Order: sequence, then C-alpha cells, then structure tokens
Amino acid sequence: MKVLKFGGTSVGSARRIEHVADLVCKSLERNIVVLSAMSGTTNSLVEISEYLYKGNVPGAQETINALEGKYIATLSELFPDEKTRNQAASAIGRSFALLRSYCGAPLTAAGEKEILAQGELMSTAMMQCLLTSRKIKSVLLPALDYMRTLDNGEPDMPHITSHLRRLIDLDPEAQVFLTQGYICRNDHGGVDNLKRGGSDYTASIIGAVLDAEEIQIWTDIDGMHNNDPRYVDGTSPVRQLHFEEAAELAYFGAKILHPSCVLPAKLHNIPVRLLNTMDPHAPGTLICNASPDGTIKAIAAKDGITAIKIKSGRMLLAYGFLHKVFETFENHRTSIDMIATSEVGVTVTIDDDSRLAAIVDDLKHFGTVTVDTDMVIICVVGDLEWHNCGFEARVLEALAGIPVRMISYGGSNYNISVVVQAGDKVAALRALSDRLFNGK
Ligand code: ADP
Ligand code: ASP
Ligand code: MG
Repeated sequence: MKVLKFGGTSVGSARRIEHVADLVCKSLERNIVVLSAMSGTTNSLVEISEYLYKGNVPGAQETINALEGKYIATLSELFPDEKTRNQAASAIGRSFALLRSYCGAPLTAAGEKEILAQGELMSTAMMQCLLTSRKIKSVLLPALDYMRTLDNGEPDMPHITSHLRRLIDLDPEAQVFLTQGYICRNDHGGVDNLKRGGSDYTASIIGAVLDAEEIQIWTDIDGMHNNDPRYVDGTSPVRQLHFEEAAELAYFGAKILHPSCVLPAKLHNIPVRLLNTMDPHAPGTLICNASPDGTIKAIAAKDGITAIKIKSGRMLLAYGFLHKVFETFENHRTSIDMIATSEVGVTVTIDDDSRLAAIVDDLKHFGTVTVDTDMVIICVVGDLEWHNCGFEARVLEALAGIPVRMISYGGSNYNISVVVQAGDKVAALRALSDRLFNGK
C-alpha cells in the first residue's frame, strides 16, 4: 500500500482534478490518497477569517461569494451529468453554509480553525464524486475521525494508528481510500490543522502509522531542485537525498516539503518520492536512508529570521550562562534555529518573533542585547562531514561579496548555514548556485 499526496496546484482546476483521478486509477491497490485544498482556497479562507476578526462582514461575504463562484464553475466543468453535479454541489454547499454561519458573530480561534478546514473537505468531496462517476469504489477516511494532535502539537500516533486502521478495515472492498491533508483534531477534540503546507505532514504520518511501501508527494515540479526555483534560474532536480538532508532542506525553507514531514517517514524508514503531477514520468526525487557521498546537494533559504546577540563580560568561565539564555527562550515557548558562540557572547536566531519584546527584556538580566531583524538563513545541504575538505571553503568563497551575520557548521554532517540580510538573499542564493553547481 502506498500513500499518494496531491498538493494544491495538482488539484487546482477541474482539468487537474481529472488528471489526478487518472493517476489514482492507474493502480487500484487500496492506496491512500491525501488531498490538499485547491490552490488559493486556504489563502481565501485565511482572508475570510481576517475580515471576520476585524468585524468586516461585507469583506468576508464578498470573499465567500467569489470562492463559491470558483467552486461552482469547477463543478460544472467536472460533472456534465446533472445527478453527480448535484451530489457534489450539496457537499460543497455544506461548506459554504458553514462559512456563512460565521458571518453573524465575532470570530473565535475555534471558529477560524473550522473555516480553514473547508478547503480540504471540499477537495475530497469532489474527488469522491468523480471516482464514483468512474465506477471506482473509493472510500472516504475523514481526517477529523482519526488525525489528532497532543497538547504539545505533536501527532498522537497510537490514537491515529488505531483509529485509521479501524476505518480502513471497515471496508475490505475499497479500491482506493481518500482523505484530507492538513486538518486534524486537537487534544480538546476541536477542529485544528497541521499548519500551512501541512498536507505533506498528513501523508507522512499516515505512511508511518500504516507502514506504507512508499509515500509519494505529487506537486507541480520535478522533485527537489538544487536551489529555490522561485529565485534562481537554471536549477536542476536532485535525484536522491538522505532523510537527514531532506529534513534540513525542508526545515530551512525548501517549500516543496513541510518542515515536519520527513521525521515520521525517517523513523519508520519509509521512502518518500517527490513527483510531478504535470509530468508523471519524470523521475523526481527519492528520499531514503542513503544518498551519494561527497557532493553538495542543494541550497534553501528561510525568511523572517531575527538574530539576537547577548554579550556578557561575565561569560568567561561562567557555567550556567548558556543555560539561562536558553531557559529564557523556553519560558517564552520560542524555539531557536541557529547558534554561534564566542567567549564574550552568544547569538541565536528565532523565526517566531511574537514574544521578542518580552524575551529581550528578560535577556537584559544576563548581558547587553542587540537585535537584528529581517534576516534570512541560507542553508547549504550535502555530504558536509567534517573530514571532507574544502566544501565549507567553497561556500564562504561564494559569499565573498555579501555581508554575513553568522555562520554555523558542525551541528550535523549535512549542513552549513549562514545568516544574511533579507535584501541579500537572492544574490546569496545565486552566488552559491554559480560557485557550487555551475562551475563559475
Ligand atoms: P503543493 O501545493 O503541491 O504542496 P508547494 O507550492 O507547497 O506545492 O511546493 C512546490 C513549490 O515549492 C514549487 O512550485 C517551487 O516553487 C517551490 N520550491 C521551493 N524550493 C524548492 C526546491 N528546492 N525544489 C523544488 N521546489 C521548490
Ligand atoms: N491547504 C493547506 C495550505 O494551503 C495545506 C496544504 O496545502 O498542504 O497550507
Ligand atoms: Mg506544499
């Protein structure tokens, strides 16, 4: 059994939804198909929530109407047959009725989560009608009936395993199972989600709990490229990555994969294949427990970084100093990405600055604090085991013309990271591609 996840662009129009149905029908071996919302839908749902939070009901209504128009047009293209179209329209109609029901009262956090869940619910409803119209026995596994997170936000694996297995076993005749990516219930039983881009994470959790043969992430590009194609021309696909390399790239900004998606697959040793819906025969990228040695594989960038320096004259031989610094971040439930230390100080980076003022206030007890906002982590990933000479030198040579705020190397065998100003990000990514991959 395989898990096949199709992202927003892959189900972004009637034609694409039909194409996904074609791909799914190629092997009816009780695979599990995870669907995202149609591209743009979750953004619209976020927008609707924002209008409602601000009490702008007409703004919300207008956005709901525009979104509904898009779905009605998709249904008429997908279902020429009136009976099937009406079935799909009644499922879609339930989602729009729910969205409109929130227009009467101030929005709560729980209401927002329910609004955000509608995109994935509509995708699976449409796909199920389409597969049924093709006489395929597809069975819906409602994510809200098995996908659950704990109070720390981590997936509740025993709960997911037992509930998902039970749902699957209920239907021995099913040729394919459909489920929603992204959405889940939290530890209070409320509707919640796995954060933006979280459908990849859904697929990986399902693959892990069911011990799947393979997890396939179908998207709009031929696998993981060696640099971010949105900013760098001439990037090329990396054919094989180690789990650790893929995890570093996903965490440090390669949008093709959700940051948490690699871990469940890695722990259960389930290969992940990144495939291109627009070009299904392209080889894509295989992520597994092995990868070619001695090469730099890819570069990624993570935006929205803040660097915080704490300088202390008393750090010299002062055991406990770093503990106090880290404890401050822990107290504010803010995780640290990168660290650089010297005898007189330490710099750390964070990507969540919602508690920045309070953190800085507390850190002032231990030293002089300086903050640099609007920074970017650039992460170079590959076989960077420390005995391999020269790789880190090439990375720094490439960046000779760019001011570098921070460098981190040796934390893993797979990564060297630098922090630069946001304004230098694109120049840094291009310079690294030129030096590391293009022989310039
Ligand atoms: P989906 O909607 O299928 O989940 P995403 O938009 O989340 O797709 O991810 C695919 C996009 O990730 C690509 O279109 C590409 O622009 C972007 N991307 C960023 N970095 C990389 C990379 N290193 N390799 C491939 N794609 C990348
Ligand atoms: N629909 C959600 C989003 O746009 C989840 C996903 O696509 O993975 O973030
Ligand atoms: Mg995605």
